[in-house]
Amino acid sequence: MTDPRGDRIVVDSLTKSFPQPGRRRPARQVLAGVSFTAQPGEFVSVIGPSGCGKSTVFAMLAGLDTPDSGGIRFGPGEGEPTAPHCAYMPQKDLLFPWRTVLDNTILGLLVRGVPKEEARRRARELFPVFGLSGFEDARPSQLSGGMRQRAAMLRTVVQDRELLLLDEPFGALDSLTRTEMQSWLQDVWQRYRWMVLMITHDIREAVYLSDRVVVLSARPATVRREVRVDLPRPRELSMIAAPEFVALEQELLDVLHDEARQALGPRDS
Ligand code: ADP
Ligand code: MG
Repeated sequence: MTDPRGDRIVVDSLTKSFPQPGRRRPARQVLAGVSFTAQPGEFVSVIGPSGCGKSTVFAMLAGLDTPDSGGIRFGPGEGEPTAPHCAYMPQKDLLFPWRTVLDNTILGLLVRGVPKEEARRRARELFPVFGLSGFEDARPSQLSGGMRQRAAMLRTVVQDRELLLLDEPFGALDSLTRTEMQSWLQDVWQRYRWMVLMITHDIREAVYLSDRVVVLSARPATVRREVRVDLPRPRELSMIAAPEFVALEQELLDVLHDEARQALGPRDS
């Protein structure tokens, strides 16, 4: 999938090491040359063994950390930094319990200097789409798990950036709610066609939602495989039983199992 505008994300040969606690211990290499791209309107999932550096890559895309070498750019040619173009939904929903749901969803806009009333107006418009109508003045504690995640996602989406970074958005949900949220996310994505990068540890979720799945190796991470998902859209939940779906799932599972085995090996200690 290429786009005539050429706008895209290029993640190019990222390396990163973190110092380890304790004297004279060598720095721990986390990323060993991670490269991938994303096109406008494309939904790309990133999977990989726990601790391999997925969130670290997202922190770099969001401008919260810098690579030791390599780079990330937005747009054609030399490109621009990605940070101003992306809205980041971190692994925890981070809703403030003392603020109303509406006032939680405008935080990103307030940080960017959007006046409060304007921010509230923009967020309110999205409440029906996110299944949160009538909960504008509720506190986060009054929401179900799925609703909290949708509120956190509304706060991300309302920032109106070209790229959404979703770090395990459904990780904390029970499996039924999770399935409902996956189907809901597919619907809203079809409607808005954001460029999405999503970290998940759920292979089925990755196949169901994505145009492409990037598999990272065990730490230090490189891209171990990229799998294109050419299943027609909109995808029905029943599609998960289709042979094409199952074959993709199996391929990804095999790669991931290989990597997880390595992650558990002696070099991880
Ligand atoms: P993932 O999201 O794939 O589970 P992370 O990107 O969170 O993995 O972390 C990868 C590795 O880098 C882990 O070993 C983690 O402990 C380490 N790490 C991440 N951020 C830091 C940091 N700021 N300082 C030191 N080590 C870090
Ligand atoms: Mg993580």
